[in-house]
Amino acid sequence: MKKSKTSCCDVRIVPEEESKCAICNKSGISLLEANHKELGYLMVCQECWKKLSEQNMLVSGSSGSCGCCS
Ligand SMILES: [Zn+2]
Repeated sequence: MKKSKTSCCDVRIVPEEESKCAICNKSGISLLEANHKELGYLMVCQECWKKLSEQNMLVSGSSGSCGCCS
């Protein structure tokens, strides 16, 4: 049975073998979920997340502060 509960604050656990940065393809690192303005949701490393955020490529408010589950 699959859980069909949808919550924007669900923590997504990324399997080790899939934990690869969508931007630089680095693996074996902790990834952040980034809501990219053009590409949608991506799993990126902290470095790339920072870069994207500096370039203003991330949709604001995607850093876990949605307010719906607090
Ligand atoms: Zn990266």
